Amino acid sequence: MMGQSHAVSGALVFAATAPFLPEALFGVAPRPSEVLIGTLLCAGASLLPDLDHHDATPAHLLGPLSKGLCRLVSWLCGGHRHATHSLAFVAVAGWGTWLGVTRLGRPFALTLTFVLLALAARALHLHPPGHGLTAWVTAVGLTGVGTATVAAWFPDITLWLPYAVCLGALTHLLGDCLTRRGVPLLWPYRKRFELVLIRRTGSRLETRFLVPLMTVATFVALWFAAFAPLFALG
Ligand SMILES: [Zn+2]
Repeated sequence: MMGQSHAVSGALVFAATAPFLPEALFGVAPRPSEVLIGTLLCAGASLLPDLDHHDATPAHLLGPLSKGLCRLVSWLCGGHRHATHSLAFVAVAGWGTWLGVTRLGRPFALTLTFVLLALAARALHLHPPGHGLTAWVTAVGLTGVGTATVAAWFPDITLWLPYAVCLGALTHLLGDCLTRRGVPLLWPYRKRFELVLIRRTGSRLETRFLVPLMTVATFVALWFAAFAPLFALG
């Protein structure tokens, strides 16, 4: 699947599940602004399993540095679509995020927020196309504003940041299950799970049907999750 498809599916799943987030997890129902930011964070997190690919969205984030990191992850994890495409990775990513936000506090949370928003901005094409200066400056500007917003108005993102990471990574795995090769959900057990609906990355089905459909569904879900309650209250 394309990075854009993963990001849109992550956004959709977060927005669609936000009204049902257990209050025991969050204390109170998430505010509309939290739903919006969480949707973007989940979109970014849905790119994380492709840290094992030298030419996917995460690899293009910081030029040679991120490319080198992705090659290292790929080498450590046994290649593309191995360890990072498993339920074990989802658990480790969520647990690592939880450890980071609880032990290292806001510096970790805001750094991760910046990275996830940058991934989302890139995958969702929220900046001019290409890798030129304009694209880079726009992406960094948008990401910086988003992170500053979280820093200023979100005193406690300890709980829903791990949730967004888990949900995004899980959505990625399910998306890749719809393509050829599938994913080894139960890694290190090697069996691959697949239900092939998308035969080629970037196919018409993906670009002209699935992405537009999921985009519209995300806005509808955001309406019900973030804005409709405001009108109901008013
Ligand atoms: Zn993947």
